[in-house]
Amino acid sequence: MKKNIDKVDKSNKNITIQYGDSYYNCELDTHIRKCPKCKHAIVPEELNNTIFRDKNTGSLKLSFTYLCSNCFDTFICQYMFVYGINKGHINPATLQYIEPKGLTEEIFSDIIEDISPEFIDFYNQSLNAEQMNLKAISGPGYRKSLEFLIKDFAIKNYPEKKDIIEKTPLARCIDDYIDNQTIKDVAKAAAWLGNDQTHYKQKHNDKNLEGLKLFIKLTISWIELNENTKIAKQFISQ
Ligand SMILES: [Zn+2]
Repeated sequence: MKKNIDKVDKSNKNITIQYGDSYYNCELDTHIRKCPKCKHAIVPEELNNTIFRDKNTGSLKLSFTYLCSNCFDTFICQYMFVYGINKGHINPATLQYIEPKGLTEEIFSDIIEDISPEFIDFYNQSLNAEQMNLKAISGPGYRKSLEFLIKDFAIKNYPEKKDIIEKTPLARCIDDYIDNQTIKDVAKAAAWLGNDQTHYKQKHNDKNLEGLKLFIKLTISWIELNENTKIAKQFISQ
């Protein structure tokens, strides 16, 4: 196989690639200018390219291995020749995916970090699962993170009831140990959507995963508001 780095025409994204005994002009619909892992803007170094046939569908695909000049990790990009390949023609290749994608984590306020480090851990594990497209795992994970958040918040307000709160089902815990009515309402909404994520037969879909995340965020916002208001009240009563 020929070395390719000198063959990349960056202005029109055209590249000549060997397949069998012949060379084909390929036109990539997307040129990679950012590392999917570290997210830096880069001109990736191409280490390898291969055209191969997908024996399941008969279609021809094109795979690149690139090296990131910032994090020095490699990643792959796969394209598909939607119209096949013909010698002497420009063959359009459509990007199918770039892997591996970098995983990002959510940063939470000091208030939430103090109340429930386990919530943050579970939430970010679920977020990473979602980023890896493991949605069947991320849904129950978010539900579990919510349980930590609510129970830890309840324990903060009722430290003497710690043992009972830990054993109480989430819905009861919201009813009995969350005093602020708005936090109660948004937590209940989140728990309701969260329960669906753990059912054997899920009644709802992706929309509910987004809803669950939104309600978790709302619960967080109200907890933060509640805690900050307490601090303000202490301040003026001094
Ligand atoms: Zn990188």
